[in-house]
Amino acid sequence: MVILDRLPTVDRLQHLGLTVEDRCLMCDNGHETRNHLFADCPYGIQIWSAVLSLCGLERVMMDWERELVWLYTRLKGKSLIVFILKLAWNSYVYHIWEERNCRKFRNTYRDCSSLLGCIKDTVCIRVCSRRVHMDDVNRHICAA
Ligand SMILES: [Zn+2]
Repeated sequence: MVILDRLPTVDRLQHLGLTVEDRCLMCDNGHETRNHLFADCPYGIQIWSAVLSLCGLERVMMDWERELVWLYTRLKGKSLIVFILKLAWNSYVYHIWEERNCRKFRNTYRDCSSLLGCIKDTVCIRVCSRRVHMDDVNRHICAA
């Protein structure tokens, strides 16, 4: 859904003729589009950059298209770090969208640290369920 840009973000709802406020609920500054929500928003950038750092990759998030190209070209094979990064990316996308919906419909908020904790929990549960060797990268990302 997110890769196909089919999530009902504000820009898509407006394209369908609905009148909705277009500010991003995560940063209260940008316009809510898929690209902003998942790659340009300071809230998401902080979280994804922290995930990458936990995986030993020191770089900041790129724009949506370049981030996807990076993911497609780098996350190949069956190594443990590829497995973890795929899990982390899926978890990141899921939790950002969940957080957006909680802010919009429940008026509840989690800070970056809490959302990062949710991503780490998700990755840790999946990694631990596979009985994989716990190396330094795994320990960092799974540490509470
Ligand atoms: Zn934003």
